[in-house]
Amino acid sequence: MITTKITVAHSDVASFLSKFQNVPRFLAYCKQCQNYNAKWSCPELTINPKTYLNDYSEIYLIGLKIIYDEETKKEINTKEKIIDFTTKLLRKMKNQLSDCLLEVEKEIPNSVSFSSGGCAWCCKCTRPSGNPCRKPEKMRYSLDSFGIDLSRVTEEFLNIKLLWGLDELPDYHTLIHAIVVKKDTDCELLMQKLNAIKINAIQLNKSLK
Ligand code: SF4
Repeated sequence: MITTKITVAHSDVASFLSKFQNVPRFLAYCKQCQNYNAKWSCPELTINPKTYLNDYSEIYLIGLKIIYDEETKKEINTKEKIIDFTTKLLRKMKNQLSDCLLEVEKEIPNSVSFSSGGCAWCCKCTRPSGNPCRKPEKMRYSLDSFGIDLSRVTEEFLNIKLLWGLDELPDYHTLIHAIVVKKDTDCELLMQKLNAIKINAIQLNKSLK
């Protein structure tokens, strides 16, 4: 059975950005990605990633580990199967976690969440056609698009090593989301909400379309 585990860690925004943000370096990686200028959540952003977070004081990182069992690893055993399976599975898991954080936003005033990777709400994003985002109420920027070094954040903050692999399914994959809040937020309540998030892993024998 595929299982999930959530880890939450927190920092003040200023020291987080000074330690982990390097926009030019990570923008160069974004330019090589198919989502560059193709999703509203991704660079070139319509907001300034260097100043957008200035009004926020605290950032909470949420790491969602999706842990594969031996049966799944045995079944998903070719490069093609791994790409197909993880693309569909991670999209579903990402949207599930994004939905939970959108609910948290409603309960915590002046908070805004971030997603992992490019927005995955629509099958085909409107950006290449130049039309506005279809779901601005749900679309959230990816942390990557702010030039954040996610590998370091994941290891140093969440104590999780990022694993990837196309020769065999790794033991787990990790999605990194976040939520930022302003001064005077009830951080105890926020932590309670984040710790209460439960993500159901979609199992191998369930449809992943
Ligand atoms: S919600 Fe749809 S249109 Fe908007 S960024 Fe996401 S995929 Fe694109």
